[in-house]
Amino acid sequence: MKLLNGHSETGEKHHSATDFGLRGLVITCEHGGNRIPNPYSDLFTDHQALLDSHRGFDPGALSMAKALATAFAAPLVTATVSRLLVDLNRSVGHPRLYFEAIHNEPPEIRQRILKHYYQPYRARAEHLVRQAIVDHGQVIHLSSHSFTPELHGKVRDADIGLLYDPSRPGEVDFCECWRAALKVCAPGLKVRRNYPYAGKGDGLTAWFRRRLAPADYVGVELEINQKHIIRAGRHWTELRKVIVESLRRTLANGCKKMST
Ligand SMILES: [Zn+2]
Repeated sequence: MKLLNGHSETGEKHHSATDFGLRGLVITCEHGGNRIPNPYSDLFTDHQALLDSHRGFDPGALSMAKALATAFAAPLVTATVSRLLVDLNRSVGHPRLYFEAIHNEPPEIRQRILKHYYQPYRARAEHLVRQAIVDHGQVIHLSSHSFTPELHGKVRDADIGLLYDPSRPGEVDFCECWRAALKVCAPGLKVRRNYPYAGKGDGLTAWFRRRLAPADYVGVELEINQKHIIRAGRHWTELRKVIVESLRRTLANGCKKMST
């Protein structure tokens, strides 16, 4: 089956909804760090607290992405430049692509930031995703994120969020299976779909969906509540292991076997 690269002799894709193990996996992490490169550091001297907050980066997202890439020997693309310099999970033209201090700079500065940080990241991610489709017939792209436990005074009621586009059946199936696997591996965790954000909103996965057919591309954002990461230590290490194990089950078994 592997020799066929996900295609039948007639060239038609033959994956069933649960053949996840046959697909290529690519891991990305757009909000991995809060680094501000030297040429721009003066613009952020008064904003260190913001850089250190959830608005500067996604705590834990990078270590989660690395754990997934290591466990599955999957290609990994990460960024440690702060989303306040340029948000790699926003489209060019989005009003929140840059922090306001960057907005007030001349357009050449923003062009330079796009050229040095944004475009290479997108190009690398696109190369790996397209290569995985060539090699495996289909790709599952996991984008690793984390969310603040409380926003504007409202406590977020989930431990893990799986964000996807409900109009793409492959993404619906995959997230349903992963959610079921998480329930088995960690019954105490509250896993919600398209929470705390809608998966079809602007972002890297949405960008890929506009370019790639549903049969080729399954894009999911993994969102982890930062309350688990703030506790750090063994708890956070264990949670990463649980998430890896649940994904292993999802890829190995698919839905049908898992539910029996
Ligand atoms: Zn994020």
